[in-house]
Amino acid sequence: MSTIRVRFAPSPTGPLHIGGVRTALYNYFFAKKHGGQFVLRIEDTDSSRFVPGAEEYIVEAFKWLGIQFDEGPHVGGNYGPYRQSERKEMYRKYVDELLAQGLAYYAFDTPEELAAMRTRLETEKAPSLQYDASTRMTMRNSLTMSRDEVKYRLRGGEQYVVRIKIEPNETIVVQDLIRGEVAVNSSLLDDKVLWKSSDGLPTYHLANIVDDHKMKITHVIRGEEWLPSAPLHVLLYRYLGWENTMPKFSHLPLLLKPDGNGKLSKRDGDKLGFPVFPLEWTDPKTLEISTGFREMGYFSDATINILALLGWNDGTEQEIFSIDDLISKFSLDRVSKHGARFDVQKAAWFNHQYLMKKSNEVLTDLFIPFMHANAVVPIFERKVLEKIVGLVKERVNFVHEIWSQSHFFFVAPTSYDETVVKKRWTPETPEILGKFAEVLEKESDFSSEHLEQFMANFIKSNNYNMGQVMNCLRLCLVGEAKGAHLNDIMAIIGKDESLRRIQTAIIKIGG
Ligand code: GLU
Repeated sequence: MSTIRVRFAPSPTGPLHIGGVRTALYNYFFAKKHGGQFVLRIEDTDSSRFVPGAEEYIVEAFKWLGIQFDEGPHVGGNYGPYRQSERKEMYRKYVDELLAQGLAYYAFDTPEELAAMRTRLETEKAPSLQYDASTRMTMRNSLTMSRDEVKYRLRGGEQYVVRIKIEPNETIVVQDLIRGEVAVNSSLLDDKVLWKSSDGLPTYHLANIVDDHKMKITHVIRGEEWLPSAPLHVLLYRYLGWENTMPKFSHLPLLLKPDGNGKLSKRDGDKLGFPVFPLEWTDPKTLEISTGFREMGYFSDATINILALLGWNDGTEQEIFSIDDLISKFSLDRVSKHGARFDVQKAAWFNHQYLMKKSNEVLTDLFIPFMHANAVVPIFERKVLEKIVGLVKERVNFVHEIWSQSHFFFVAPTSYDETVVKKRWTPETPEILGKFAEVLEKESDFSSEHLEQFMANFIKSNNYNMGQVMNCLRLCLVGEAKGAHLNDIMAIIGKDESLRRIQTAIIKIGG
């Protein structure tokens, strides 16, 4: 069997959507599982849609994810160039072959004439408004003109396109590894443009087929939006005589909005506060910035895991998959036929799982910039910082959230949550806390374990109830009803700071 070769073939028309990233990942898992090659091909034949920076963005996104292409414009390879705009000379030959065999034809219709055709068909209530077998004989093309006239126009430099000639009423079957057999009547297809004289470039359809053939692609794994084009692609393989080496098709399900109604869009992300792009993107025209998974604090391995499960599972309840797991377990026959819904909470949950797997050392490195961003000089030694991170990581999904869960270690409260004060702070509180401060001052063992015991003894020997003391002590130390265990907090901030906070609260809140 020949080596498996797959390609990810984005058009550089803007930032890569996470649906595109998922497509690339499935190609990658499939290739690596079978010891094959994963190729990046930039499909940039439509210059009107070209967006500067889009290709660089794609390359950087996969670099961040740690996914390597075996071949591509930035890595080279034996089947290059890997940008279609640099392959320009390769395509015309096939257009000429199709023309010579009568499988394609020249069409000289102007945009106005095409619009007029549509209007006419609309008024006639024609079943189809397409340029196809039912209409082409009424249009200005090489099927309706004499040979001489065609020659004359071509020589005169008239603009033209080359269209594929599709015979009506034929069943075209696409074998799809995910969807099975998809049969389409050829009368539903239009005579798609394969080539434009205006820029001397093929359209997506022709370039895509020629390149897949020349690059010896064995499997085409792409989004569902390309399924309607697949019958045309099958026909092109047949017309070009490449049916025997035609790649096997797989069309992946759409990524849906969180409510399941329709395709996931940038608007949904903006509305619900989640990214639909892997990295931040600045629109070069409007300068509008869209955030990315990386900038929102998702880890690259979590991002891969999240996207991998949007449309695939291994048939078990397992949800956490390392990249090696994904490579060994991925199979196209377990890809769903139905759209996969993007779930923001679930995505955060995944990130939490990956965060919990990271060591306190690594998380501390990642946290330090956020600590500095909050203008805190590191008053703690590295080991203590690691401890703080270890104490709060259970409560966060993202590294930047560590600050909101740990700021009280670094800075004393400047205000006290009013509702908690109202609910917990009684006229007796200052006296109870004063007494607590008095004994605490004499305590020499400030380890977290000992302080836990110490607090329990204090409460018991004075016959206080737990809530009475603990809730108010928390107010003093944290300023609100949240945070780590009080013994952990005191052990870290130390005796002096603990006493200072208790005394400050007694004075500020009062009796
Ligand atoms: N250039 C197409 C895209 O932007 C590629 C489709 C395909 O994979 O055939 O999605």
